[in-house]
Amino acid sequence: MSNLARLAEASLDRHGDYPSLCFEGTWHTAGDAHDRATRIAGGLHGLGVRPGDRVAVVMANCPEVTQVYQAVWRAGAVVTPVVFLVTADELRHVLHDSGAVAVVTSAELMPKFGALLGELGLPAAVVGTPSFDALLDAAPLPIADRGAGELAALLYTGGTTGRSKGVALTHTNLAHAGRASREAAHVPGLTVGITALPLSHSYGLLVTVGAMQAAEPPVAVLQRWFEPAGWLRLAERERAQTAAVVPSMLVMLLAQPLAEHDLSALRFVHSGAAPLPPAAAEAFERLVPSARVLEGYGCTETGGIVSASPPGAPRRGTVGRPVEGVEVRLADDGEILVRGPNVMRGYWGTEPGAGLTDGWFATGDIGTLDADGYLSIVDRKKDLIIRGGFNVYPRDVEDVLTAHPAVAMAAVVGRPDERLGEEVVAFVSLTAPATAEELDAYAREHLAPTKRPREIRVLEQIPLTSVGKLNRKALRALV
Ligand code: ATP
Repeated sequence: MSNLARLAEASLDRHGDYPSLCFEGTWHTAGDAHDRATRIAGGLHGLGVRPGDRVAVVMANCPEVTQVYQAVWRAGAVVTPVVFLVTADELRHVLHDSGAVAVVTSAELMPKFGALLGELGLPAAVVGTPSFDALLDAAPLPIADRGAGELAALLYTGGTTGRSKGVALTHTNLAHAGRASREAAHVPGLTVGITALPLSHSYGLLVTVGAMQAAEPPVAVLQRWFEPAGWLRLAERERAQTAAVVPSMLVMLLAQPLAEHDLSALRFVHSGAAPLPPAAAEAFERLVPSARVLEGYGCTETGGIVSASPPGAPRRGTVGRPVEGVEVRLADDGEILVRGPNVMRGYWGTEPGAGLTDGWFATGDIGTLDADGYLSIVDRKKDLIIRGGFNVYPRDVEDVLTAHPAVAMAAVVGRPDERLGEEVVAFVSLTAPATAEELDAYAREHLAPTKRPREIRVLEQIPLTSVGKLNRKALRALV
């Protein structure tokens, strides 16, 4: 069974009355959420949403996000999640490209999006206003009969390297990705997970769809958006046992007084979406000895997952092994190719399968596989810097710089250079005072001359994308 609305309903029989979501101090049961979702589905139907239609959902994390996702699936429609940090112009692009027929958003975003929604004349339900309450007054809608191969979500990639494209994921794609990643990470008895990942990103969606298929009643502790001090208080108070993060969150947590918090319940921290600097993982494990940081890897086009580190046998520096049902192989140039039930149907607006070769998706990442099938990510192909004929992977340089005790985060990009083609430029943010000269001396000591940054610039903060990845587009504009 892969229809997501049916999966959500089936999970109720297992743990409907269980308090499964903690948000801003309030507990919600899966049964309540489901009840609201059935009525929201009726309300969306009333707004004209029909099977196959796209519904844009633009909200910071809150319980309504998952209720609306479930309602959209119930109505047989396609969730188009948009991170709330986008500009009105970016939202316009998504609404236009996806042909969304309705928008669900929240009151605090109306100053930003209100004019656009008015101009487009799309039906909108705004959480925190009567327009959303009206959805809840509708009669429950039965589940629309949709095949597992039909679209469930249209996700726009972050566009960290180019124009944002719609990734068309089916019910099977998401159900499989969620189930396989959950099974790969599952440790019996560990049910309380904390996340501040945007539920609008493929990683957050993966966690959500995984929870719908959990055998043991899961408890999600959700933060509206990531804020390190609040995250620590929540993790401590709710005795979180697992956490899902992107590496920049881990780095920001390390800047907090970790020792002042009792995180002894925390056993596994799952990191994905961007390279995990080994120094950050090791520092976290030193400060929170109960916890192991496990790295996984995925892309929007693969439903958010490709591989995960087995909790019982992780290997630092790798992103674990392909999850169940997912095949990985390397092309001649080392590019990681992925095939499986999680791989997208295609990009929105193209024929199914376009962008795939015999079902294989070319990730754009260079990797290596060891004899036991553990995958390591070398870097993104498109981030490779070619300096005087030598290949420089930014990640190699970043990992060295982040190992310096004063460096919090490092980001390396290429700068066009007449003589060498490209030069290596590094940006760092600091946790303790250090001069560019000291960092340069460190780089000289630890990096081959071809890889050594010609310039190291200290920034107050490294620009990040909405999910917390290094924003190389913004950095390239600075060089
Ligand atoms: P684009 O710029 O193409 O829009 P994106 O970052 O917005 O890219 P996503 O689908 O969100 O697109 O991210 C997928 C990419 O994130 C992968 O292709 C890979 O480069 C990177 N990534 C994910 N997990 C890891 C990891 N554990 N280590 C290194 N890189 C990772």
